[in-house]
Amino acid sequence: MTDLQFTHTEAERLSDTERDAILRDPGFGNHFTDHMISIVWTKEAGWHDAEVVPYGPIPMDPASSVLHYGQEIFEGLKAYRRPDGSIVTFRPDANARRLNESARRLALPEIPEDLFVAAIQELVAADADWVPSGDDQSLYLRPFLIADESFLGVRAAERARFLIIASPAGPYFTGGVKPVSIWLSEEHSRAGRGGTGAAKCGGNYAASLLPQQVAAENGCQQVLFTDSSTDDTIDELGGMNLFLVRSDGTLVTPQLNGNILDGITRRSLIQLARDRGHAVEEREVTVSEWREGVSQGTITEAFACGTAAVITPIQRLKGTDLEIDFGSSAPGPLTMSLREELTGIQFGAGEDRHGWLHVM
Ligand code: PMP
Repeated sequence: MTDLQFTHTEAERLSDTERDAILRDPGFGNHFTDHMISIVWTKEAGWHDAEVVPYGPIPMDPASSVLHYGQEIFEGLKAYRRPDGSIVTFRPDANARRLNESARRLALPEIPEDLFVAAIQELVAADADWVPSGDDQSLYLRPFLIADESFLGVRAAERARFLIIASPAGPYFTGGVKPVSIWLSEEHSRAGRGGTGAAKCGGNYAASLLPQQVAAENGCQQVLFTDSSTDDTIDELGGMNLFLVRSDGTLVTPQLNGNILDGITRRSLIQLARDRGHAVEEREVTVSEWREGVSQGTITEAFACGTAAVITPIQRLKGTDLEIDFGSSAPGPLTMSLREELTGIQFGAGEDRHGWLHVM
């Protein structure tokens, strides 16, 4: 167990009335809770100065490495309120392990897993009133680790800071789960062999913004990236993993090839599908396979998955000279039943048979 003790500075930035107004319709990523976590790391002293402090601006020297070389990684997970009022988080240990994998790739310090989970616990306890209880609402938690040494030489920083902020989140889909259109990015890549595709670092998202704009200009809500060496092998979306469903109930998803994020939703859905007896193939998946499968009726559903949106059904994939369309605007049945099972576990209606929930 971590022996680091958190010091607390109490804050209440908003009145109960103001907070409750936000919780009625929080949207996504707009509002932040009263507190945040801050833990400092230095090469000489390791992790120290663990604090629960009022949410607000952080001191930042203009020479901080993160501002120049993008030495930054982050995570995303949610706290859910169950019908009995208790609060749980979903697989925070998996986020801790993934943060440390990202840390290794970005030459940042690894944080002890139990310190990461303890920090989540401290913040959720301090801001428990901010965990909403409405349908499909949760408290989105954003841990991040930045290099904040004041030094312009290009080398791994010797000082870093771990922070967690929290933001109440409403349902990702207002007005029900609607299938989306996806844009196939043929001009821009997100990741290449040996790059940072498997790490959750800010730079990957900066690189996805232009292709995301191109997607929006083409009437699509998300962008799909292929392996940079081919235009056909599918990696993942800008912020979600991808699954195809075959007519025999087999799920197909790109394998963890070093280019894509090891999504915790992806992993959980693979487990839930296998528990039900579905075959799940983690392997190379191509746009050609998708196109031919839809035209032959052997691929019947497609969906994207991630913490923010849980499962997003996909109706069509569009590209410069491409349009693959399932023809129906109704979400696929397996897509929806897996969504229901996963959210059932997270919100406390279903049985947590894999021990994924951490009671806060
Ligand atoms: N891929 C990318 C690029 C992402 O940003 C995310 C969101 N974290 C995912 C996949 C899904 O990961 P998770 O299920 O852990 O949220």
